[in-house]
Parts: sequence; C-alpha cells; structure tokens
Amino acid sequence: MPEPVSACTPSVHDLSPSQGSAGTRFRLQLVTLHASGQEEVQEVARIERAGLEMETLGLTLAEGKLILKKIQEGVVQEQIHESLLQLRCCPECGEARHSKGYHPIAVRTLFGNVEVNSPRLEHCRCQPHEEKSFSPLHTVLPEHVSPEMLYLEVKWSSLLPYEVSCDLLHDVLPVDEKLSAVTIRNHLFAVAERIENELGEERPCLLEGNDEDWAELPIPNGPLTVGLDGGFVRSRNKRGCFEVIVGKSILEFKRDEEEGAEKSKKCFGFVQTFDEKPRRRLFELLKSQGLAMNQKVVFLSDGGDDVRKVQQYLSPEAEYWLDWFHITMRNTVMKQMAKGLGKEAKEPSQTGGAQAAVTERKSIAAELQSLKWNLWHGNVERGLERLEDLQWDLDFTVGKSENRDKLSKQLREFDAYITSGTTGSTFRTTGSDTGTGSGSQQRLQNRR
Ligand SMILES: [Zn+2]
Repeated sequence: MPEPVSACTPSVHDLSPSQGSAGTRFRLQLVTLHASGQEEVQEVARIERAGLEMETLGLTLAEGKLILKKIQEGVVQEQIHESLLQLRCCPECGEARHSKGYHPIAVRTLFGNVEVNSPRLEHCRCQPHEEKSFSPLHTVLPEHVSPEMLYLEVKWSSLLPYEVSCDLLHDVLPVDEKLSAVTIRNHLFAVAERIENELGEERPCLLEGNDEDWAELPIPNGPLTVGLDGGFVRSRNKRGCFEVIVGKSILEFKRDEEEGAEKSKKCFGFVQTFDEKPRRRLFELLKSQGLAMNQKVVFLSDGGDDVRKVQQYLSPEAEYWLDWFHITMRNTVMKQMAKGLGKEAKEPSQTGGAQAAVTERKSIAAELQSLKWNLWHGNVERGLERLEDLQWDLDFTVGKSENRDKLSKQLREFDAYITSGTTGSTFRTTGSDTGTGSGSQQRLQNRR
C-alpha cells in the first residue's frame, strides 16, 4: 500500500494538532471493491484545517490537483492490473503464458502521467503464432495519451498560442510537469491530420438520397443560416495576398430541446486555393449540427463566385440570399457620389445652374433611398425599375461630368450585381447574430 500523501499547505503544517493546536483532520481514501468481494483501501491524502479563513476554506488548487493525481494513479493502476490478470492466460487452453519481463511506459492523462509496467508475454504453444511474444498492454492501449488530454490540448491551442495553452493546463490540472508547448503543437498537428484523413472525399454533389427518401424523413429541426464571406489576407513576409473564406452556421432551433436553449453556432474557415475539400468540410460541419436533407438551409453571401461554388449542392432545400451588408455598402458609396454631384455643379462654369444641381442631387439621393428600401423589403423588381430610372436620369441630364460618369458606372455595376445575385434569390438583413460572414472576416482581420 502506498504511503499516505499529505496535501497540506505549509501554514496548515504549523497548525497541526501534534503541535498543540486544535484542528480538523481529513483522510481521503480510495477503496477498491474487487469482484471477489475483497476490499482494498489506499490512502490518497491527509488534509488538516484549523480556524476559518477564506484562503483555507475547502480545498486549495494545489490540494485539488494532488488529490486528482493520486486518485488517477490508483484507478489506472488497478484497471491495468485487472486487465493484465485476464490477459495472462491463453484464451484457447487457459494455460498461463510465460512472462519475458517488463518495460515501463507512461500513460499521459489530464490528471497526470501514470507510470505503468508493461509486460511482454510469450505466446502459448497450443496455437501457431508468427511472433514468439507480444505485449498485451500495447494491444489494448496502442496510444499512450488519453483522448480527453488530446481534446483539451487541441481545443485550447486552437484558440490560444501554444505557450498560453500549456501554461493554462499546468495551472489548473495536474498534467505532466514536462508537458511543453512543442508537445502540444505536435499533438495538434497529429489530431488535425487524423481529422483530415477521416473527412470524406470531395464530390460535385453531396446530396444524400433522392426525392422519395426525403419525403419520408421526419419533420426537420429549424432552418440553418450559413453566412459566408471572403477576404484577402496579406501573406507572411508580405509575399502577396491569399483569400480566406470564413463563416458561421446557426441552427434556429431543435425540435426536442427546451424553449430558450442556446442556439447551435459553429464557425469555419478555409483557404480556397489551399483546401482540397472546402465543400465537404462545410457539409460535414452542417451535418454535425444535424443537417437533414429536408431541412431548410439559407446561405448568405456577397454573391461572389468563390463562395457561390462552396455552397452549391449541399442541400436540396437550400436558398441562396444576398447578404444585406454588401448591398447597403454599395448603396452608401453611391449616395456619397450623388452628394459629390451637387458640389461639383455649384461651380459657375457648370451648366444648368446651382439650384438645378441641388434639386437633381436631392432627387438622386431620394431615388437611392427608395431603391434601398425596395431591396430591403424584397421588392427586387421595383428596385430594378428604380435603378433603370436613375440611370436614365443621369444619362439624359444636361451637362456631363466625371463624377456623373463614375456614378453612372457604379449604377450599371450595381444593376448587374443585383440581377445576377437575385436569380432565384431574395434579400435579408444581417442584423444581430446572423451577421455572419462579414463579422467573422472582421474578427479574423482583428486577430492578425
Ligand atoms: Zn494455449
């Protein structure tokens, strides 16, 4: 039986009853109940407390870590001992296999490294075997790092620098003292590679099943809203730029969850020119949020070709909407240009007079505002009519100027943008938490 571990803080030592002070002593034990009915008791820790102070109320962080480590050691050693006992005998004839010695291995867990003796056993001669001996522990525990350990390492280090994640793990958990940022980085790379290999192949169409299958599916969860946006990021050492596409997927509601439950939200990002499976990646993300083939999915984007390609053929119920953010941004630019027209015409050399120019500027501004609200309310046809009127007004107004030509060009481009973007689509505001793609892009830029 191991020696009892004292988890006392130095100040508590001073207050121990042996020195004449009154206090309360606690003994923590790990009791193993064997299948045979036998009980085995291991001392885990002794804690002493005297008086009442916030600093020593309950367990300290150091005590908590030490106790977790001791319990982990006891449980792991017992589990391995039990498992090895069962593996010791040949499953065919029941004869005990001969041992060829041990070698130590360290099992890494969130609650500390546990040193274990891994035996090497000779194969029983009742059956032919390619090798003479084998390691039973290697068969049942091929990996020496617990999945939860990898999970926290990878989760934290994908959000924080490796060094910070490493410090955080050491601060709150009794992880191996030698755990370093380099180890965490290596683990993250290994996990990323494994996830990458598990990702299915990229295909032109990722729809699953057909019309008949989809008709028989149960009523789906609420719609998924997926915002995508692309942005150019400067490469390291200023060697050009590359486009990053980022986004966020929000599930409106789940049918079986309680009212007021938090919505499922997931972010994603990839570099189109580097990633070989961007559509499959997005598809699997939606599947992880429970995507069903009869579920409505709304894709919000700027209508650009790059993001359009990614969202095609992922769901038969998909709708493709132009992100309001991109529409209103273009509209604002055109309003600024219209203001410029007025200023320009105030100069005496311009024909038409200042009064006429102000009226014209106001009329264009009003038309642009009207165009904006038509689009906001989804009245695309009326919006396009307004655009046509505006272009006509500008083209046939007396007098020519550089600013008028610029605004006219901008109007033509906006017309083409809306016309191509609204083929089978509609508009939607990106207010509150559905401000997805652009918001994620902004956050990405801010982090750099
Ligand atoms: Zn045998």
